[in-house]
Amino acid sequence: MSDCIFCKIASREHSARILHEDDDCIAFEDTNAQAPVHFLVIPRKHIETVLDGDESILGKLLFTAARIAESKGLGKNGFRTVVNCRRHAGQSVDHLHVHVMGGRWFSWPPG
Ligand code: 5GP
Ligand code: ZN
Repeated sequence: MSDCIFCKIASREHSARILHEDDDCIAFEDTNAQAPVHFLVIPRKHIETVLDGDESILGKLLFTAARIAESKGLGKNGFRTVVNCRRHAGQSVDHLHVHVMGGRWFSWPPG
């Protein structure tokens, strides 16, 4: 989609700190990080929400998210994945994305 910022990142029209790319998806750092590690994994293709993706791409996005998290050393202590869908969840970019956040506690008290 021509006016979609994530499509522009996928086509390299808009810059981003890219962590991974393959034929199906691309991962890059979130510009407004909510944790020491915060990146997004998106499909190359413009898919609006998690309701619009098929089993194949939804599986691929989560699989890729986990592998990158592991490669960044988050496997031991863990990390959070979030997929916001539409307005009540606060989806602000209408191109499907999986947030991966790690490097801090997300629940308190710990344990
Ligand atoms: P949402 O609120 O839709 O679940 O998350 C959208 C995320 O995209 C936000 O965390 C926001 O910081 C990030 N974001 C929005 N625009 C850009 C951008 O141009 N570049 C990057 N790297 N991240 C962006
Ligand atoms: Zn898009």
